[in-house]
Parts: sequence; C-alpha cells; structure tokens
Amino acid sequence: MKMNNNKIKRTAVMGGGFGDEGKGKIVDLLTKNADICVRYQGGGNAGHTNEDEKGKIVTHQLPSGILNPWVYNFYAAGCLLDPDKVLEEINEFRKRGYEVSPKNYGISELAHVTLDYHLKEEKIAESGAFKVDTTLRGITQTTSAKVNRQGIRFCEFLDQDSFRAILPKIIEEYANKGINISLDEYLEMYKPAQEQLAEFVVKDEDIIKRFKDKKWVLEGAQATMLDMDFGYYPFITTSNPSRKGISFDFDYLLLVIKVIPSSVGDRPKITQIDEKTQELLRGKKGNTDAEYGATSGRPRQLLWPDFVWADYAITINEADGLALTKFDKFSMLPEIKFCTDYKLDGKKINYLPHDRIKLARCKPVYGESLESFEQDISDIRKFEDLPKNAKKIVQCYEDNLKIKVALLSVGPRYDQVIIPEKKMYSFLNK
Ligand code: GDP
Repeated sequence: MKMNNNKIKRTAVMGGGFGDEGKGKIVDLLTKNADICVRYQGGGNAGHTNEDEKGKIVTHQLPSGILNPWVYNFYAAGCLLDPDKVLEEINEFRKRGYEVSPKNYGISELAHVTLDYHLKEEKIAESGAFKVDTTLRGITQTTSAKVNRQGIRFCEFLDQDSFRAILPKIIEEYANKGINISLDEYLEMYKPAQEQLAEFVVKDEDIIKRFKDKKWVLEGAQATMLDMDFGYYPFITTSNPSRKGISFDFDYLLLVIKVIPSSVGDRPKITQIDEKTQELLRGKKGNTDAEYGATSGRPRQLLWPDFVWADYAITINEADGLALTKFDKFSMLPEIKFCTDYKLDGKKINYLPHDRIKLARCKPVYGESLESFEQDISDIRKFEDLPKNAKKIVQCYEDNLKIKVALLSVGPRYDQVIIPEKKMYSFLNK
C-alpha cells in the first residue's frame, strides 16, 4: 500500500539487528497519535522496556501501545500466547494504573497457546546439543507443535469442551516423549485463565474491518537477523520478525538499529567490542537502559556498527527509513569504528554469508574511524542542534546504507528523540 501523498497511515516498527533495539519506546511514541497497535509475531519471549513516570515497565504480550489509553492493542494471529503469563502481565499493568480491558486489548482467536508441557519440553531441549540459549518461554515448542498440526489455538483453549476433546491425542503424543500430562489436572489448572481471558478474544477479520481507515502502528518483536528464514540460522527465533511476518498492509517500514548492537548466546559476533569497553557501555544492571536481557536478565555482548548485515536487513525488508537508537551512547566513546566489509579466508567480501560455518570464520574490515562527540545529547530535540561530529556520524550511516535516518533516539524516554524526516514527523501530528 505505498501511498502517493506524503502522509503515512500505517507504520511498521521492526528490529534490524539481533533485538533489544529499543523498539518499545518508539512504538510508545508513534502510538501517541495512532488508533491501533498490532503485535504481529513472537510471544512472551519479547521484552520491550518502556519508561513511564514511575520508572521501567516491560511489555511482553501486551503491545507497547497499551501505555496510551486511547490506543486499541491487538495481539494478532501469528503471535503465541502464554495464558498464565499474559494474566500476570495484565495484572501488573492494572496495578500500575493502566487500563487493560476489552476496550483497549484484544487477542486473536487464532493465536496458538503455550501450555505447561511446552515449557517442560523446552527445558529438555535446552539441555541437548541443539540448545540456543532461549528465554525458556516455550516459544520453539509451541511453534513446532503448530507446524506439526498439534497446536491449540486461543478459541479452542477457551472452550472447555473443545479443550477437553483436543487434549487426549496430545497427551498420548507427549507420553511418547516422556512428558506425562493428566487430563483432569490440565482442565482444572487452566480454568482460571480461561475464565479471565475469555473477554479478550477477537477475530482478526473484525479488527481489520473496524480499523480499516485508521492509523496503525505495527509492532515487531525480536529482529531481522533473528528471523527464521532471513536470520543467522540456526541462532534464530522461531518466527518471522522481518517483513515476511507482516500480513497487514502498511505504507512505511521503519527499521530500528541500535548504534551499538547487541547479541546473546552462541551466535557469531563478528564485530565484538573488547571486553573492557563493553563493560563500560553495558551500564549498571537494573538501570532502564543497561544491556541485560529484559526477559532473561543475561548480559548482552556488544558490537561495533556493522554495515554488512545492516545493508542486508534494509534490503530484504525494503525499509523506508532508519531509526538509530541509543545514539546518546556514542558519547561514551572517543571514536567509533564502522565495519564496512568482511574478510573470509583472507578474501574481502561485502555480502553476508549464510553458511553458518563460513559466517563463523568471517573477520571484520573496518573503514575509517570517526571521532565521537563527548557530550550529553539527551536533551537535544532538533537535528541542527547536534554537535558537528554527531551529524557526521548520521551522514556516515546514510552514505553507507543509502537510506534516510528518519529518527534518532537519544535517551530511554519516548520523548527523547530527534526526527529529521518530515514524513515520520508528520505521523506524530494529527
Ligand atoms: P526492545 O525489545 O527493542 O524494545 O528493546 P529493549 O527493551 O530490550 O531494550 C531497549 C532498552 O534501551 C530499554 O531499556 C530502553 O529504555 C532503552 N533505550 C531505548 N532507546 C534508547 C536510547 O536512545 N538511549 C538510551 N540510553 N536508552 C534507550
């Protein structure tokens, strides 16, 4: 739905790297002037950290638009739902003073549910040879069950008779894997969640009709380089955070890249920063913007900007604009290195090898380093007020990646942004 005029009606916010880019705060900002916020993939493995006047608040299965009471939040088909965890989250948000009711939150009847046996199965998988350091939220197992036609969708979970009718075959299947499930126990265990979540069930087709001409923000979870098809296979998440995972129309794709990208687990980390500098950049555990997993609490490995995968992510997503997040963090460094190419077995290459064995052998080739701006920029709101070196850095991204920097994030709060692109700026104004 590319529109001819300059007005954007639907923005997709998508991670460009390995996740944890700060998508949540951008979604919070963009939904200040939107009608609906849609989570299109993933499950409770997402952890989008936002900040309100009381401090840090993390959304997992509630779209980040929940922070703005006028926005309808839709957890769409393609997402996975953990009934117990979503109830915990709803209660936490209510305690904090947020409304979470059918007026502002709906869960697709087609979302697949994560049940207790998925969690048990994941614990077993994560002790085996193919472990990938998951968040232990049963995501891979729920997705596998879905693909194996053994999943249960939210509409079936909510109906006691349907739930009772579907479970016995699953119980048989899991007994073969050494996981024992008692039908009566399960029926009893999930009753409270069924009763409390019933009011949130909605149909995707109804939401599409109801919000046809309204303003949308599509919220991605995880990120492109974790995409099941386009990412660093097999160190991936089991969904499509990339453009491939969006079934809804949109007219602007904002790709979010954290200027000091982070990664976790065994994934190759080609531009890894030296440990001492990482420690400095990571921040104090517990701080809103510290580099520890929002869901897992694990320390993240920090990387120098890498134009090889960034260019790939921009291309395969056909991104319209770039959001550079944590731009303020550059002020902690005297100079910044940019990886422009890789060396594979001594030969310079400028593409991303997908063969996992070759990828692990790649070494970074850095272009000319840029001097940083050793100054606090978190209160700057206009591009022209940025220090000269900060502008040069933005130019370096635009020149190398051939894309407009539409938004610069200079602090954890939603209002700590600079929006150089008119189209993106106008999305925020009626
Ligand atoms: P998400 O999953 O993509 O929403 O990202 P996370 O929640 O895992 O991590 C982003 C963290 O960075 C959050 O704690 C944000 O508050 C913080 N953050 C986002 N943008 C900025 C920024 O521009 N500067 C700083 N210092 N922190 C930011």
